[in-house]
Amino acid sequence: MKIGVLALQGAFIEHEKCLARLGIPSFEIRQLSDLENEMDGLIIPGGESTVQGKLLRELGLLEILREKIASGLPVMGICAGLILLAEHLSNDDQQHLATLPVTVKRNAYGRQLGSFAVQSEFKGIGTIPLTFIRAPYIEKIAEQVEVLAKVEGKIVGVRYGNQIGLAFHPEVTDSLDVHRYFVEMCQQKTS
Ligand code: GLN
Repeated sequence: MKIGVLALQGAFIEHEKCLARLGIPSFEIRQLSDLENEMDGLIIPGGESTVQGKLLRELGLLEILREKIASGLPVMGICAGLILLAEHLSNDDQQHLATLPVTVKRNAYGRQLGSFAVQSEFKGIGTIPLTFIRAPYIEKIAEQVEVLAKVEGKIVGVRYGNQIGLAFHPEVTDSLDVHRYFVEMCQQKTS
């Protein structure tokens, strides 16, 4: 079991630390040759989606990761990672991996609410801390997409088969529950 963490920009180290605390080996994806590693799951961290999207294209990683996700590789996209996974962005013309059939609104909480934390229910886990940093939310989902978390009526966590998209940052809290949930998903896929 080994999980790849996209390490082009943003909060990738925090995810490596969460995985290490769970005893799960991880490796960083910085260039095409890193994909020679055997990979049972992929984490796309928060950061800046435009920067990560540009680097994914320039490094020739976009198409190959899209194919891997489309053929069943478990993936968890956090915040900018959710934006990269989304099929549609309501306030941006761009599209990146576009494997997750949802419409996401970038920087959806505005400047006033740039950053905030709440406790909320996460389907299959229970109540957990959710931290939002210049976060998007999910405006629309395809029929088969499962809602995992909602805050004030807005969808902030979804699952679509092998793909999880979260508007909040589980890696900045002490709770390892979301990472454990994702690791179990990766284990089910490989077993
Ligand atoms: N606002 C960022 C974007 O649009 C996402 C913020 C984050 O990942 N914390 O890419």
